[in-house]
Amino acid sequence: MTRARADARPRGNIETRGDSLRIRVYAGPDPVTGKPIYLRETVRGTNEAAHRTARRALNRLVAEAEKARQPSSTISLGHVIDEWLRVTEHEDSTRETYVGYIERTIKPALGSMSIAKLSVRHLETLYAELRRCRVRCDGKPFIEHKAEAEHDCVVVKCRPHVCKPMAASTVRQIHSIISGALSAAVRWD
Ligand SMILES: [Zn+2]
Ligand SMILES: [Zn+2]
Repeated sequence: MTRARADARPRGNIETRGDSLRIRVYAGPDPVTGKPIYLRETVRGTNEAAHRTARRALNRLVAEAEKARQPSSTISLGHVIDEWLRVTEHEDSTRETYVGYIERTIKPALGSMSIAKLSVRHLETLYAELRRCRVRCDGKPFIEHKAEAEHDCVVVKCRPHVCKPMAASTVRQIHSIISGALSAAVRWD
């Protein structure tokens, strides 16, 4: 059972709505959009027993909201995305596409960053880079090798890298992966 700490500021409330009680607890801002996130629960009935159940639910949601805030200081975006991918239902083809974006683009760029430090500015910078060059090159010329193993560049026709922007729809998908994972992280313990 959760114990309400004496110094804990109330961050939730119980409201009577028709024949039920609605519990709402503020769980901090969404790390991507900055919009407030609320944990909600409804208890049927408005009598004394219902109020007791509602107060217990309120305490539990407050504890959940507090826990959700703490791990964000150390957990990396890469870890959160892996967890999100593991517990979220996706069609196989979608999952494959997502894993590609995650391994090729998101993790090399921001995978090791702690989600507490991650800001909208970091994401905007990443998206701006992707719109310039989808492999986020540093602007210096280099040869794009077409094979990983030892090969003859002339035979395989390796060419100098030319920056190509990532499609806007792909950038949007990458954003939806990151924002989906971060919102999920807020809901987790
Ligand atoms: Zn080559
Ligand atoms: Zn480039």
